[in-house]
Amino acid sequence: MCKMEEKVEKIEGMISSVVKLTSVSALFTYYKPEEVLGYCKGCPNHGQIWSCPPYEGDEAAFLKDYDEAMVIGIRTKSFEQTKESLGRALIALSESYPVEVLIAGNCFLCAPCTKASGKPCAHPSKMKYSLESLGFHVSDICENILDVSLEWHDHDPIYLATAAVLYKKNGLSSEDKERLTERILWRLGLEGLS
Ligand code: SF4
Repeated sequence: MCKMEEKVEKIEGMISSVVKLTSVSALFTYYKPEEVLGYCKGCPNHGQIWSCPPYEGDEAAFLKDYDEAMVIGIRTKSFEQTKESLGRALIALSESYPVEVLIAGNCFLCAPCTKASGKPCAHPSKMKYSLESLGFHVSDICENILDVSLEWHDHDPIYLATAAVLYKKNGLSSEDKERLTERILWRLGLEGLS
């Protein structure tokens, strides 16, 4: 498909972005489910949304089918707005390109999520996890992969919405992967690899 026929997705609230390519095995350096999923117990979404813990099995196991990851950090003053528009753009990408995606934060597609009423997920093919919901230590990923330190202050805060695009093992040649990466960056309206 020609680039001009595709739509650039506008990411609401974005101030700037940082994007890095890394291996999925490098991401697993920051996989600390006991610690991270422990933090999740204090969140109101815990046990209320299918994309959030607690899980019955190993929800991160599917990541082993992927070898590379484009990690995306979007600086925003409006985390909820950015989370949703970035999430919708990433879900659309996963439907048109041979990639899987991890969104920022929890799944937001239904209100309320069907989990709270004990029903199955209403959109299982669109439901995506986030790095943190799978047990990855996101602040360590920001510091060590994105080279961004999270700033904690009360006045006029700037948030970092983190997400990822995952490339399947042996799915594409390196040239095709490069072209696909360029196309994804263009489609998300991101400047390029940092
Ligand atoms: S798609 Fe809907 S039902 Fe499924 S996890 Fe997301 S909010 Fe819940």
